[in-house]
Amino acid sequence: SPSSTVVTRFAPSPTGYLHIGGARTALFNWLYAKGRGGKFLIRIEDTDRERSTDDAVKAIFDGLSWLELFGDEEPVFQFSRADRHREVVNQLLATGHAYRDFLTADETTILRDQAKAEGRDFVSPWRDRAPSVDDLAKPHTVRFRRPLDQAVAVDDAVQGTVRWESSALDDLVILRSDGAPTYNLAVVVDDHDMGVTHVIRGDDHLNNAARQSLIYDALGWTRPTFAHIPLIHGPDGAKLSKRHGAQAVHEYADMGYLPEAMRNYLARLGWAHGDDELFSDEQALAWFDLTGVNKAPARLDFDKLAHVNAHW
Ligand code: GLU
Repeated sequence: SPSSTVVTRFAPSPTGYLHIGGARTALFNWLYAKGRGGKFLIRIEDTDRERSTDDAVKAIFDGLSWLELFGDEEPVFQFSRADRHREVVNQLLATGHAYRDFLTADETTILRDQAKAEGRDFVSPWRDRAPSVDDLAKPHTVRFRRPLDQAVAVDDAVQGTVRWESSALDDLVILRSDGAPTYNLAVVVDDHDMGVTHVIRGDDHLNNAARQSLIYDALGWTRPTFAHIPLIHGPDGAKLSKRHGAQAVHEYADMGYLPEAMRNYLARLGWAHGDDELFSDEQALAWFDLTGVNKAPARLDFDKLAHVNAHW
């Protein structure tokens, strides 16, 4: 039935080329959806206007095309949906799940430092203050009103159940004073509107899952299943960096690696399936599951990659 159709997405920020971590995230999303008769979607998160470039958009699509990871629908460009994001901000304001904060950035810094020195959590005084008509004419941000004194738990398909005390989160800014919606709000609205059922992404976003879950709850929307996958590390176990060799997908293409070999190798990076080293797309689609994704960071192994490549 349509209600049980799996929908995944790959949502890169176009601030650089497609790196192998992003490629693996895209591949896991593609495998999970396509192996279940579902849909794989692509969303370009270009809300950061200063850092997003057309060259990066092109580089990301070039990398995905080389790996033959195509979306099932036209890609969504997040910035083009800003009006919709603002509509949802207004909905949260109307239902009391958000409030207008008239503190300036400097005032916020002072009050935050003061709260910290006194061992308190920072909360803007505007959380509990009704603005006057005069106030409303002044520049302000909009903050999400998180439930206080209440933990939030996320059942992550890879990490298990993860809990945060509300003191670990804050009343997130969801609309900047220039009217720009912020990342966590935009992601929730887009994932909801695109019908995304499974959010598979790097575990650098795990804390955002807590924030995003609270926004889903406030809107009365069903949370997606989250699956936060550990990052890829270099062969020495340290965070991947230039000294470990190529990080961009196009560099591997230039070195003569075949897309089939890259896909096979990336599928096995952090996902265990018996001892099989080589398998076809059909097998990967049939076998891939989130329960097989390791919790520990995956390590690049160039010998293995070369071995896989030699097979094709
Ligand atoms: N745009 C984010 C990034 O590139 C990913 C957001 C997400 O997958 O939810 O890190």
